[in-house]
Amino acid sequence: MTCALVWFRQDLRLADNPAWWEACDRCQQVIPVFIDDPTPTSLSQLGAASRVWLQHSLASLEQTLQVRGSRLILRQGSALAVLQTLIRETGATHLFWNRCYDPASLERDKAIKAALKEDLSVQSFNAALLREPWQVLKNDGQPYKVYTPFWKALLKLGITQELLPEPNTIPKPSQWPYSLVLNDLQLLPKIRWDQGMMQTWQVGELAALNKLMNFLETTVTDYKTARDQPAVLGTSRLSPHLHFGEISPRQVAFLAQQYLAEHPESSMGVQHFVQELAWREFAWYLLYHFPQTLSEPLDQRFKKFQWEQGYEVQLQCWQQGQTGIPIVDAGMRELWQTGWMHNRVRMIVASLLTKNLLIPWQVGEAWFRDTLVDADLANNILGWQWVAGCGADAAPYFRIFNPILQGEKFDPQGDYVRKWVPELAGRAAKELHHPRVLGDGWKYPWPITDLALSRQRALERYAQLKA
Ligand SMILES: Cc1cc2nc3c(=O)[nH]c(=O)nc-3n(C[C@H](O)[C@H](O)[C@H](O)COP(=O)(O)OP(=O)(O)OC[C@H]3O[C@@H](n4cnc5c(N)ncnc54)[C@H](O)[C@@H]3O)c2cc1C
Repeated sequence: MTCALVWFRQDLRLADNPAWWEACDRCQQVIPVFIDDPTPTSLSQLGAASRVWLQHSLASLEQTLQVRGSRLILRQGSALAVLQTLIRETGATHLFWNRCYDPASLERDKAIKAALKEDLSVQSFNAALLREPWQVLKNDGQPYKVYTPFWKALLKLGITQELLPEPNTIPKPSQWPYSLVLNDLQLLPKIRWDQGMMQTWQVGELAALNKLMNFLETTVTDYKTARDQPAVLGTSRLSPHLHFGEISPRQVAFLAQQYLAEHPESSMGVQHFVQELAWREFAWYLLYHFPQTLSEPLDQRFKKFQWEQGYEVQLQCWQQGQTGIPIVDAGMRELWQTGWMHNRVRMIVASLLTKNLLIPWQVGEAWFRDTLVDADLANNILGWQWVAGCGADAAPYFRIFNPILQGEKFDPQGDYVRKWVPELAGRAAKELHHPRVLGDGWKYPWPITDLALSRQRALERYAQLKA
């Protein structure tokens, strides 16, 4: 009798899930497992908002499995010890999982494979990326550090691949092992601030697929221009679903290409969308090849960069959306209330923090990690290092976003600012993005920094480093 344990991690779905498919295809009994493992991996180090998402995502997976007559076994503890116990309890002959690519998961999983491979068959798969990080290399075998050649190499390997369907039948064990209940994992906060945030979201595999299909049908054609306008629903908002593996990048790319085949007029939008998806791929690729970038800048010169000291008050203003710079405050409040922020605004708020305020990028990265529902180790680090100018393919150091011009360009009617900064709702579009005008006599703070002077200071600091 063959019995498989399928260890779910950041692949909380049943379709296009190679570990799940293989287990259901090859074994007579299949036991789905989720382990709350304290090893500091990208999954266990989630911030508060992402833990809330995980609670809902696990609940959704549990329900999907139950409807199909199966279950999700929940355990807590060191993954190796938990798996050894489960193997003893169930007589498992096979163990399957899909790979995670953060340094701590890779190290842990390698050790688990080595420890268990004498006792049972252990197999892992790629379910998180379009291509494995070691498949995309330069001619000299070195990894790319710049996005465009990486993208071209990825294209050569092929973006679309056949998808695995959900297995028709799920073999069940004769007896289920003991399971914790979901609330035992204590993923939800003690003070329930999460309910408002989750009103914005539907979580789980079905929700992710519906969201993708809806995005393709209503939005993708105009993606190239609409994606930069925070006031409109111009992007897919799939990031938390992708982070937790409720949908795979292969599914996203495949269904987008399928849509394109049937709707040639969507060509520009679809292509641009898939190219953005490849930024996620690039982020994981970089973290795999340069694991030190977890905490250090990829550009080593930045180790010596002179960040400001004693920035607590300014940091608090930034975190609370009280900088007196309307588009920044709108973004930080959107983040606080929904657990998400528009990409254009992420760049603007990150630029203000790292360049105008000269606060280390790691401080902003940590805040995003705690408050984003899509907080993703690789994407977050790539985004912050890109804006700070110290990462791969980074924005040049002299690119310092001017939040007023950015606001005028990408939120010309001011709808985004009005939505998230209600105290400015009555102001006319032409003055809405100008903090100095607004601060005067309004219940809205004066700007925490002089944008022109702080820009100059940042340029000088960056120039020193360059010299
Ligand atoms: C400072 C900063 C921090 C960021 N932190 C995160 C993070 O923690 N998690 C996260 O998923 N993204 C992060 N991003 C990237 C980007 O902002 C989000 O992926 C995007 O806003 C998600 O919205 P969407 O799903 O509607 O994207 P869409 O435009 O619909 O794109 C589809 C998918 O492609 C991927 N993608 C798109 N743009 C990027 C990008 N620039 N970098 C990497 N992947 C991308 C995402 O997985 C996204 O879901 C960050 C960007 C910046 C500038």
